[in-house]
Amino acid sequence: MPLLSALLLLAGFAAAAAQDITFFRIGTGSTAGTYFPVGGIIASAISSPPGSRDCDRGGSCGAPGLVAVAQSTRGSVDNVRQIRDGTVESGFSQSDVAYWAFNGEELFQEEGAVSGLRAIANLYPETIHLVVRFDSAIKSVGDLRGKRISLDRKGSGTRVNALLILKAFGLSESDVEDVPLGSGAAADALREAEIDGFFFTAGTPAAAVQELAEEALIELVPIEGPAVEALLKDSPFFADHMLPTGVYPGIGETHTVSVGAQWLVAEGVPEETVYQITRALWHPSTRQLLEKGHPKGSQIVIEKATEGLGVPLHPGAERYYREVGALDEAGQ
Ligand code: GLU
Repeated sequence: MPLLSALLLLAGFAAAAAQDITFFRIGTGSTAGTYFPVGGIIASAISSPPGSRDCDRGGSCGAPGLVAVAQSTRGSVDNVRQIRDGTVESGFSQSDVAYWAFNGEELFQEEGAVSGLRAIANLYPETIHLVVRFDSAIKSVGDLRGKRISLDRKGSGTRVNALLILKAFGLSESDVEDVPLGSGAAADALREAEIDGFFFTAGTPAAAVQELAEEALIELVPIEGPAVEALLKDSPFFADHMLPTGVYPGIGETHTVSVGAQWLVAEGVPEETVYQITRALWHPSTRQLLEKGHPKGSQIVIEKATEGLGVPLHPGAERYYREVGALDEAGQ
């Protein structure tokens, strides 16, 4: 290599090393869910390690100097706690869990409010799935009594929802044979007939459910009726939801409930960092990655970014939404 180009190369490395690297973790969920793949897409979209080619020259359009990674976790509750404890900078959470954590209510009553939670964006609706074997006698939530059911692990948002739904039908944890498995393990256990069913709150199509549907092994049980209507009336986070036919192969239209998936961040992450991350999230190049990367990606839109947030926006995110006119005068 001619001396001059070697020197230029070295100068390039030195410049790259001089630019600060910011590591930014995103707590997601189980690898068989939707948080994990969507988190991976977002992590690569917002990353722009030092030395990356410029966005307008076909390079990265992420936040300058940022290296983001999606980490597998137990889900919403785990993510909120990890943000509080500083083991991740950000994470995905259901809006119900986010609200209860921020306000120290429900399952956060004992451990106290996680007041340092802030939002970057509302992402997409998650569907509450109740999955059973195709030949199951379980036709409604009320039939779960005495059955071997995975309510998911402690730390998941799914488990929080499963317990609420059981309660709405007059059942408690002890009325089912609780087998606490993450969604991937629950899908395997259902395939082996080791359990009778499992709950999973996740954006559709969730990998754990999709694989079983492709093998024609499952049915989805509707979550509906007066008990559910009362639950919807009590809690602003849940919405009546009709899962359309064909989202999963062989599964017909199913009446159930949905809840928002949101991206939360620690209050202490600098304003400028979160501003750059928010800008990168809504960059047109990210849209392409989201649409190609997961069917839920097309539902992640800026028009819904501040909808139904369970916690206040981070000031960096708020600055971006104000700048692009995505917040009205009232701040919402
Ligand atoms: N909503 C689920 C939870 O918090 C995780 C969903 C997913 O992994 O996509 O437990």
